[in-house]
Amino acid sequence: MIKISNIKKSFKNNIVLKDISFQVTEGEVVAIIGPSGSGKSTLLRCINFLEKPDSGKIEIGDVTVDTTKATKSEIQKLRMQTSMVFQHYNLFKNKTALENVTHSLRVTKKLNKKQADEIGRHLLNQVGLLSKADSYPISLSGGQQQRVGIARALAVGPNAILFDEPTSSLDPEWVGEVLRVISSIANKEKTMIIVTHEMKFAREVADKVIFMDDGLIVEQGTPEEIFDNPQNERTKKFLQNYQ
Ligand code: ATP
Ligand code: MG
Repeated sequence: MIKISNIKKSFKNNIVLKDISFQVTEGEVVAIIGPSGSGKSTLLRCINFLEKPDSGKIEIGDVTVDTTKATKSEIQKLRMQTSMVFQHYNLFKNKTALENVTHSLRVTKKLNKKQADEIGRHLLNQVGLLSKADSYPISLSGGQQQRVGIARALAVGPNAILFDEPTSSLDPEWVGEVLRVISSIANKEKTMIIVTHEMKFAREVADKVIFMDDGLIVEQGTPEEIFDNPQNERTKKFLQNYQ
């Protein structure tokens, strides 16, 4: 369970998150949609303290952090609760697909090579890439690299996975395979927050959709409520661009 309460974040005098509160229950998939610049990435980055929120409370699993007085060890514990899949994969270029997946298992979980490789191969198999275990990122397609990124995010067995536009830097031909992999993980009752511009995907995969605009959650509800019967004018206007 994730509970975000009253998160605020500014960059200098630019107020980017104005007072964000929402909850994600165990196994739930939440899609966050909204215009460019509305604060979606900043919100995800605040949840794992890649950005330090100015104020508010973050609860994930059994870790609770009051962001105004978070200690280093609290932040570290909080970070262990989630893993992130980035738009630009951020794979280690000098490591094979398998080494990318096992890195955190070796470093954070202190597993030996044999144990880590076994889990890594299982995860690569899950994203359909076992045959590429020994390939370096440069020899993989964008879609394959992102699937390695997803396997890597799964490796530490996080409480929740945070996706920031996982398909938006992919060539159109690779989008489908990555969305299929994310759907297959969603079906395994993994808790996920996905920032996406893929409205069809959000409708299919999400249990709940959050529409953000200008640093605020304007509206949230089931995919049917948000896509078929949006209540707020800003939501309606945003979705018109996707018809
Ligand atoms: P997009 O859909 O384009 O990815 P977004 O909803 O993810 O947009 P953010 O990246 O969260 O939006 O940005 C929200 C605002 O915060 C923007 O005005 C952006 O310029 C600003 N911002 C984000 N990160 C930083 C930073 N590190 N320093 C200064 N300003 C930032
Ligand atoms: Mg963004």
